[in-house]
Amino acid sequence: MEWCVRKAVGIDIGGTKIGVAAVTGEGRLAEVVTLPTESCKGFGDGLDRMGAAVRQVMAKAGWRLEDVAGIGIGCAVLVDPVQGIIQNPYTLPGWDDARVVEALTERLSVRVVLENDADAALVGECRFGAGRGFDPVVMLTLGTGVGGAVWANGGIARGSRGQHPELGHLLVSNDGPGCYCGANGCLESIASGTAIGEAGRPEGYADAREVFAAAREGAPRAQAILERVSKALGAAIWTLAHTIVPARIVLGGGIMDEHFDWFEPALSRAVAGATQFDPRTLDFARAALGNQAGLVGAASLVLATCDDVDSRMS
Ligand SMILES: [Zn+2]
Repeated sequence: MEWCVRKAVGIDIGGTKIGVAAVTGEGRLAEVVTLPTESCKGFGDGLDRMGAAVRQVMAKAGWRLEDVAGIGIGCAVLVDPVQGIIQNPYTLPGWDDARVVEALTERLSVRVVLENDADAALVGECRFGAGRGFDPVVMLTLGTGVGGAVWANGGIARGSRGQHPELGHLLVSNDGPGCYCGANGCLESIASGTAIGEAGRPEGYADAREVFAAAREGAPRAQAILERVSKALGAAIWTLAHTIVPARIVLGGGIMDEHFDWFEPALSRAVAGATQFDPRTLDFARAALGNQAGLVGAASLVLATCDDVDSRMS
């Protein structure tokens, strides 16, 4: 199909930096430009700099904007994918109800799609990574926070009005720490890098990295902290396995990129005895895109349409 173009731009918007990449149809980063988010300077300023960065990666890659399928944006905050609005005033102060899809479409005359970054990473994994060929897929991302997303029937599973299901706030413990979501003992409050760091501080560890290092050297207190994380993850996986019955659970984010091997046995044990679905139909895999998940995932939001066309035509 002539209009099914196999190149795209991915934009990954976080609280501190924005990545802009030229991404090939094979999910490879051709060129990347990174800029500080500096949302306090206002959305207009951010828009000017994102527009310039898109033109810059196009020039570096030797591509023209007319040749790309569009721009996919993954954003680490609350978004309205239906209206194309970034909503969260806490992570991006100064960008209040930023109509990023409308504004970038107008400015660059290309198709623009906006999703939560966990959804974008999931689409990237299902297109190019560990989720390829599986459906349904559940992805959990463990980094500074805990995110998650669900792939079902060939697309992102959404809630009412396109809202993103927040798997990081699954309740996994009756007596866990309080979370900003308002609950006690949700997955994020125990298994995030922030939570592991906080649990490690009274034991003399500066952050999550030190907790993992000590646990791998056999320190019992560090291992106890990670045992609690394993239990929390096991409880979350048990719940997700029974409610969604995924073919594969993909585990990503900085913590899983480095420490998947540490948690994998506990996760397998958590579902091995399940009787309400066949546990042999479920497996676990580490996310394959690593630190490129944000950019490749964002670009996949617009690249995904090409495969849809291919499958309909064949
Ligand atoms: Zn929570």
